[in-house]
Amino acid sequence: MANYPPEPFRIKMVEPIKMTGPEERRAALKRAGYNVFGLLAEEIFIDLLTDSGTGAMSQHQWAAIMEGDESYAGARSYLRLTEAMQDIFGFRFFVPTHQGRAAENILCAVLLKDGQYIPSNMHFDTTEGNIRARGGRPTNLVIDEAFDPNSHHPFKGNMDLDKLRTFIEDVGVEQIPFGMITITNNAGGGQPVSMENLRAVAAIYKEYGIPFFIDACRYAENAYFIKLREPGYENISTLEIARETFALADGATMSAKKDAIVNIGGFLTLNDEVVFQQVRNELILREGFPTYGGLAGRDLDAMAVGLYEGLDEDYLAYRLGQTAYLGEKLLEVGVPIVEPPGGHAIYIDAGRLLPHIPQTEYPGQALAAEMYLEGGIRGVEMGSVAFGYPDPDTGEMIHPKMELVRLAIPRRVYTQAHIDYIAKTLANIVARKESLRGYRITYAPELLRHFTAHFEPL
Ligand SMILES: *Cc1c(COP(=O)(O)O)cnc(C)c1O
Repeated sequence: MANYPPEPFRIKMVEPIKMTGPEERRAALKRAGYNVFGLLAEEIFIDLLTDSGTGAMSQHQWAAIMEGDESYAGARSYLRLTEAMQDIFGFRFFVPTHQGRAAENILCAVLLKDGQYIPSNMHFDTTEGNIRARGGRPTNLVIDEAFDPNSHHPFKGNMDLDKLRTFIEDVGVEQIPFGMITITNNAGGGQPVSMENLRAVAAIYKEYGIPFFIDACRYAENAYFIKLREPGYENISTLEIARETFALADGATMSAKKDAIVNIGGFLTLNDEVVFQQVRNELILREGFPTYGGLAGRDLDAMAVGLYEGLDEDYLAYRLGQTAYLGEKLLEVGVPIVEPPGGHAIYIDAGRLLPHIPQTEYPGQALAAEMYLEGGIRGVEMGSVAFGYPDPDTGEMIHPKMELVRLAIPRRVYTQAHIDYIAKTLANIVARKESLRGYRITYAPELLRHFTAHFEPL
């Protein structure tokens, strides 16, 4: 039986949401080119498009916002964020950015040259896009269990250490300006990376002299998974686990819209002073002065408070428990998911749910469209639409290994009744799944195409 943990908060402000009629939804989806990114918020009942920037801030964060210091340079807000950054991440330098991809852009602008490779367990789509935009080649070296939706490996986000070593030997150290790892592994189901694996990855990068950057978006959820699942960490606090994690690396990028539970913000943090000087120049050119980096002072304060709230263990037990509850409910109604559930989202295996729709006809897109039509629920395709790309050498379309639909759960936003409603909607779709048809792309840009592509039902 699925167990729903009581929320460790009560609600003191509400935002009304409204159910639309089926005809209204059909018209809205058509107008949006059958891409749920094109729908308006008011056309949606439950929005699981992303957990990014969609969380509910706490009374402490809203109070901190009122203390925001909007000085252009050297604001108190910046000093408060600096203190939190040093306490949790411990790198020598950092710059705030307006969100995660801005940090990735600056990192790639400063370190990456045309034709070079960036290894990771799996890159998220914006990281991939930023690497490709500079002529780089993002390379995913996650363990094979990551692609087996039935494997219950406790750390399916782990890097395959043999693959990493072979890869470095094959392409050559001089072709790898930096290496990464994503915690938790968003593109691979929000699966965690163990401390043991982080340590081994850091040792390999160090052995070859490759700077190691962590994509830290969900570092707190990863820390709590380590506490729950890795022997020896049962009695270590998530704050200490986070510190141990970042002590292994040379820097990190982060979208604070995830585990810092703010609506906007991010950062790039690192130890190398020479690289930092270049980062700062790039930041001033594209984001803003180094003590605000494209954000308002109040945003920095909300982030400083949120970084700690994201690490709170009562919150994390509820957060991971709510996600696991949705996963169990979906399994109960016959929806295959990536198991075990990750931290921030449930990934439906649309390829397995809809085996009659081939990869070239986008089973994930078909399911995402149907969830909206059936129940006003917005999830996002994470399959051939989001991750398919033409091979740079042959031009042939490369499909990802899985066709997923991600149901990302905003932090501290939806209740158990909402989660039950999602499961019921999926149960209705399962009952007539053979009737679902695939889609054809009618428009797509070259990079990050899932955001703006248009489709036509087949
Ligand atoms: C969200 C995310 C990013 C990009 O952050 P934005 O704030 O959306 O620009 C990068 N990596 C991972 C793993 C993410 O989840």
